[in-house]
Amino acid sequence: AEEILIRSEKMSVAGQLAAGVVHEIRNPLTSLKGFIDLLQAGLDRKEEYFNIMIEEIDKIEKVSTELLYISRPLTHDHVYQWLMKMIEDVIVLLNTQAVKKNIKLVLDCPEDVVVYADRSQMKQVFINLIKNAIEAMTESGEILIKVEKQGDFCLISVIDEGPGIPINLIHQVKEPFFTTKKEGTGLGLMITTRIIENHNGLFKIKPNNDKGTTFEIKLPHYDPAKLTQE
Ligand code: ADP
Ligand code: MG
Repeated sequence: AEEILIRSEKMSVAGQLAAGVVHEIRNPLTSLKGFIDLLQAGLDRKEEYFNIMIEEIDKIEKVSTELLYISRPLTHDHVYQWLMKMIEDVIVLLNTQAVKKNIKLVLDCPEDVVVYADRSQMKQVFINLIKNAIEAMTESGEILIKVEKQGDFCLISVIDEGPGIPINLIHQVKEPFFTTKKEGTGLGLMITTRIIENHNGLFKIKPNNDKGTTFEIKLPHYDPAKLTQE
């Protein structure tokens, strides 16, 4: 019975996804059609219409790219590697975006934490979480990425100083296509959840009472002697 339950749950996720995709792509398509009608009617303001049309096409492109990522079977290109190095790489990638908003990305990580991970997938996780944190913060401040060893696991926390997630939305934010952003796809946290599961880890949102949001990841960590030679 348990197996059937799990399977039907998976089906509903697929169904949910399909419905979401249709919605996300149909809306911009409808709007594109409308603008083509207007252009055919020979009205002016062409410039303005073209700009909106490009925005709509961008939206379709963005959703398609993320969906492609989800629909691909997750690979298992796992290697033993330094966690600190990987997070540092992501910080370099996102730093310009942070600096623009006067946000400081701070990493507090022991040097000797080794994880067994698919590099591009795990980087995607940190990109998703740090990007969300940057987007959530309107004013200057700090985003702290903190890593602590806890026995066989390491606890990675991404802590921002944004407005936080309302308690009643905590369960919704991980659902596909849930977004509160104009330019959002609502797929980032869903992809993150899937990747962490593919790494035998745990991913959760820590409800904060006061300001800010904390995302927590628990991953097994290993003896540096296992480090994959490159
Ligand atoms: P997207 O970023 O495209 O909206 P995500 O799946 O990454 O999709 O996030 C879903 C929603 O969760 C966001 O639209 C936002 O409402 C909320 N959220 C995610 N991260 C944070 C954060 N650090 N602070 C506040 N809200 C957040
Ligand atoms: Mg996001």
